[in-house]
Amino acid sequence: MAAGQTAIEAKGVTKLFQGAGQDAVKALDNVSVSIRENEFFTLLGPSGCGKTTLLRLIAGFDFPTEGEILLYGENIAPLPPYKRPVNTVFQSYALFPHMTVGQNIGFGLEMLGRPRAEIDARVGEMLRLVRMEELRNRRTSQISGGQQQRVALARALAPSPKVLLLDEPLSALDYKLRKDMQIELKRLQHETGITFIFVTHDQEEALTMSDRIAVMSRGRILQVGSPRDIYDRPSERFVANFIGETNFLEGEVIGGDGQEASVKLASGATISAGLPQGIRPSGRVTVVVRPEHADLVKPGAAADLWGKLENVVYFGTDTHYHLRLDGGVPFIIRQQNSRGGGLGFEAGDAVGVQLEQHAAQVLRD
Ligand code: ADP
Ligand code: MG
Repeated sequence: MAAGQTAIEAKGVTKLFQGAGQDAVKALDNVSVSIRENEFFTLLGPSGCGKTTLLRLIAGFDFPTEGEILLYGENIAPLPPYKRPVNTVFQSYALFPHMTVGQNIGFGLEMLGRPRAEIDARVGEMLRLVRMEELRNRRTSQISGGQQQRVALARALAPSPKVLLLDEPLSALDYKLRKDMQIELKRLQHETGITFIFVTHDQEEALTMSDRIAVMSRGRILQVGSPRDIYDRPSERFVANFIGETNFLEGEVIGGDGQEASVKLASGATISAGLPQGIRPSGRVTVVVRPEHADLVKPGAAADLWGKLENVVYFGTDTHYHLRLDGGVPFIIRQQNSRGGGLGFEAGDAVGVQLEQHAAQVLRD
């Protein structure tokens, strides 16, 4: 887990690309973020949001238009890529096909002019780390995609970088292999103690692997937090939408304290909802509720919301109940299935919704 000391810090980083026409593209827009030593930190966002650009600036392949990047408190702008204690694993692996596995892994050390014996020993160590000792003399054109990915990792780790940058390294692998590599990457990060900055557009990958996640959109970081923070307490609509399924309810703040607000919804019901850090909203707000943080109840039971069940969809592991709340707003509830069968609700039933404690959360925007 994260050890506290800041490994990488971006301070007010903006990156403009001059397009073919007059318009400049703002790939990064005033990005500030601190990444801790030993952390598995993920940049999560849709294609084009600036993830690769941020990695390239950290690696030194390109320079910020404004702002600076610090490594352990020092501005690294004057350092060329090969002098930074940072290494990158690319999506395409970029292995040398005419070289053996061992030669690929030793390549970086070779370039640094390390003695032969040291290189050989280190390559052996890396092969053990990625569990590929028996393939040392195989050409990388003759191994599988998953094995190539491991070689790319071993090659990047061989010079003992302080920070490893991983740009969508798993997206070329099929589902089963990707799942295995997710576990493998976590193990590698744990065993080496190296700070990992991992890039993905896949929310599930981000949630399962990361110590912390930065959710990005259009060159900005919208929210940074643990997977649980990001999932349970999204602070903006984009974050709530991008990560999992969410119910949105509009309402008006009618009271509350620094922790929670009382929100009167369009249907007339009043619920209490958590507040994003440092925000005391007033007036109209949007509240989000995850579908699995609400329970369906029969008419007559105590409930927070009321409505009509429109559709029941069975998914094997769980069942999704599509409701229309009084006032006309759609609402989805997800309940895990058990051996006991369904909950005995059918489309057309009048139903109540019980919100679990802290289920509702006010959005910042
Ligand atoms: P991501 O990795 O999140 O998909 P990128 O960082 O690659 O996003 O790109 C962010 C934005 O910057 C995109 O709009 C992309 O088209 C633009 N961009 C990236 N690199 C360049 C470049 N060298 N020249 C012009 N525009 C670029
Ligand atoms: Mg990219």
